[in-house]
Amino acid sequence: YRGLLEQSGIILDSSQWRAVTKTEGPLLLVAGAGSGKTRVLTSRAAYMLVNEGIPPQEMILVTFTAKAAKEMKERMKIYPGIDKRTLQKLMIGTFHSIFYKMLIHHEPETWDSRFLLKEWQRSQMLKEAGREMDLEEKEFAYDQALTQISWWKNHLITPKDVKPADIWEERCAYLYRRYEEIRISRSAFDFDDMLTGCYELLLSNPVLLERYQKRFSYVSVDEFQDINKIQFKLIQLLCEPQRNLCVVGDDDQSIYAFRGSDPDYLRSFSSLYPEGQTIILNQNYRSSHPIVSVANNVVTSNKQRVSKQLQAQSTSDTVPFLFFPYDEEEEATMIVTDIKERIENGATPSDFAILYRTNVHSMALFERLIQSSIPFVVEQDGDSFYKRKVVRKALSYLRISQHPDDTEAMTDLIGALFLKQERLTDIKRMSILHDCSLLEALKHLDGLKPFQLKKLEELPNHCKEIRTASPETALGMIEKELGFKDYLKKQGNEGNKMDKGSDDLARLKVSARQHNTIESFLQHVNHIIAKQDEKKKQPIESNAVQLMTIHRSKGLEFKTVYILGAVEGSMPHDYALEAWRDGDDQPLEEERRLMYVAMTRAEQHLAISVPMMYRGKRAQRSRFVREMSRRTAPLTRNEVTTR
Ligand code: ATP
Ligand code: MG
Repeated sequence: YRGLLEQSGIILDSSQWRAVTKTEGPLLLVAGAGSGKTRVLTSRAAYMLVNEGIPPQEMILVTFTAKAAKEMKERMKIYPGIDKRTLQKLMIGTFHSIFYKMLIHHEPETWDSRFLLKEWQRSQMLKEAGREMDLEEKEFAYDQALTQISWWKNHLITPKDVKPADIWEERCAYLYRRYEEIRISRSAFDFDDMLTGCYELLLSNPVLLERYQKRFSYVSVDEFQDINKIQFKLIQLLCEPQRNLCVVGDDDQSIYAFRGSDPDYLRSFSSLYPEGQTIILNQNYRSSHPIVSVANNVVTSNKQRVSKQLQAQSTSDTVPFLFFPYDEEEEATMIVTDIKERIENGATPSDFAILYRTNVHSMALFERLIQSSIPFVVEQDGDSFYKRKVVRKALSYLRISQHPDDTEAMTDLIGALFLKQERLTDIKRMSILHDCSLLEALKHLDGLKPFQLKKLEELPNHCKEIRTASPETALGMIEKELGFKDYLKKQGNEGNKMDKGSDDLARLKVSARQHNTIESFLQHVNHIIAKQDEKKKQPIESNAVQLMTIHRSKGLEFKTVYILGAVEGSMPHDYALEAWRDGDDQPLEEERRLMYVAMTRAEQHLAISVPMMYRGKRAQRSRFVREMSRRTAPLTRNEVTTR
């Protein structure tokens, strides 16, 4: 089969081939980025199907993201001797897709009648529980409590089992218990329940478990460094008693610790499965030599890692380059210009990926790419920038300052004014009664508390002042004078700790700076929103520039990669720096691994952007950038060039 593979252009070195043919018993494959781990997994599956005649329904291949699963299915298509029907029967998927399918299959009545909680619904439910114990919404970090609860669930710790270490955990433990009670009473389930539910099902039903153990005789897991307890337990259960378990991973790429993943399963695999074999790969086949050595320089600054040396195969002499745009807007312009130039010189859009730390980053690029007519896709988990809560509210302020009768904007603002939605009818009534705009009608509302009264009386006047200001100044005034700061503070607790409301506003100001009048800025925003909606309806373009967070880029590769925002506060992220200042290195090390993952996606060209201004403030170059050119490293300072 090796010969057949070679004929199809699938070359494997001797260590890789050893891993492919070791089909029985536990197998651990540890290796750095781009060393062909995923290639070994797919080749191994093909080898088992074609050479060993193992039926496809006996095999299961698990990955961490839907995109990676899709990619793996694509890669399987090129193997010789595998027909379409075989491929269809082969189970390749994420933990959630595979195990949720099992649940639905065996307990359809139960699970079909339940509904899956969205993130905001989880958050609401928790707040409901919080109100029962008089927790102040403003002061309690509900988002962190949700993460904590999810962590417990993924570690199979039930509310009863929690042993709170401090007051914070005590509160979370109470919330956890109530959260579960409310959830069950409403026939709801969350993402974590898919896995714990399946685990319970298998444990409580030995006959079923045995059937699955017999059926899935061969289990493989990619990106094993990111596995968490419940996932590991499920895999462990499934592979008994044959233990034909093949796991591949790289501890340097463990980037989900914040969600409970534990690279120790990778590190201790050989003691968990002492009869197993370990194979190490040292050749990087993906990236050019300079990229590998610069990425190595960064990751070797981590103290917590299994030491390994990664060597590059390809000897291209194009070095990674740093560029220093003024701000995020210029960053986007420079990248789009560079992409255009490279496309003119023969590159194709799918050669490019633009990677960033958080979703907010993609906004300026989105706008530039729309204007440039280069096809692109954005992988996004949250709302698009202009639809985010804080941004929408700020824009509504701008709108109402221009159009005091804009009902939509008023509806949107009510919450930020700390009024109940029902008040809209009152506002409308007052505007008819006093023959004035909706905005002016605020002055005439009754039954208000003194602090509300003051704010509502001031608002129309402030809006008048804003009317002729530049959009950037106007946003500054909105932040300072219209009580928006209080609102933002409140948002800070609600949102993800990595994506703060005040960051959104700072980002919006950078974009507003490009426009002289509010009207032209609003027009621009409308145009972009319309384009975005239009784009959503179109079929996904396959030959397109890819925009995604680094977390989503795991396992993927691109000829040219741009990394955005290599500044302190973004990468490493503020929250990691805070922890670091408090003496906790772990989050910072995870950020470093994130940088390593990002850099090692590049095959030929790697460009890292170090903006001078970031979110409207002067920024400091990321410490990781300094580490790239460490003098002790094989690469000299001059090799990391500036363009
Ligand atoms: P990551 O850690 O990023 O997930 P990986 O270890 O899974 O990377 P692969 O994606 O499997 O690496 O392989 C990286 C690239 O190298 C792919 O383009 C793959 O086709 C190629 N490759 C793997 N092995 C060889 C080989 N022996 N000869 C030539 N190319 C190879
Ligand atoms: Mg891989």
